[in-house]
Amino acid sequence: MAFEVPALTFAHDALEPYINKRTMELHHGLHHAAYVAKFNDAVAGTDLENRSAEDIIRSLDSVPENIRTAVRNNGGGHVNHSIFWSIMGPNKGGEPTGELGEAINGTFGSFDNFKEKFNGAGATQFGSGWVWLVLTPEGKLDVVATPNQDTPMSDGHQVIMGNDVWEHAYYLTYENRRPEYLKAWWNTVDFDAVAQRLASAKAAV
Ligand code: MN
Repeated sequence: MAFEVPALTFAHDALEPYINKRTMELHHGLHHAAYVAKFNDAVAGTDLENRSAEDIIRSLDSVPENIRTAVRNNGGGHVNHSIFWSIMGPNKGGEPTGELGEAINGTFGSFDNFKEKFNGAGATQFGSGWVWLVLTPEGKLDVVATPNQDTPMSDGHQVIMGNDVWEHAYYLTYENRRPEYLKAWWNTVDFDAVAQRLASAKAAV
């Protein structure tokens, strides 16, 4: 069974004005689709076809060396974007509450401090990459950035939320102003979905 781009649960224009319709059309419909097509090409005819994409990405050492780079880049692209679409939505944003809010305040001092650290890591990630909130193997929250389509999952972390800082994620609207995009993006974050990811991650530690 080939890997597939998950359908969006909202319309392409639903995240405007923070992320515009054309960016979503290109990003979900072409960029993510290209990662999936290349990921499927790389794993075709191997037993990786029967494993989940996340499982493969968590154990890149188990991937045959001749396809490891293709799997790392394109399997990573598939997993990262699938998470990304699932933690955004229209009329979202605001502040996290409950266990997620308490965990963020306990680790970073306040939600504002957390956003500042997250945006700072995203703004200073050189070139293309991602910025993440992770649950470490020790069960602590942390902010990390990764280059290209690498994911902290390959280092044993569990991804709670992440933002895409590749230029394709923001350039049509924000041009070279990545920090402006990072700031606006919080208006699209579905903290209920993020809270569910934290609960699942904690259960798995
Ligand atoms: Mn992207």
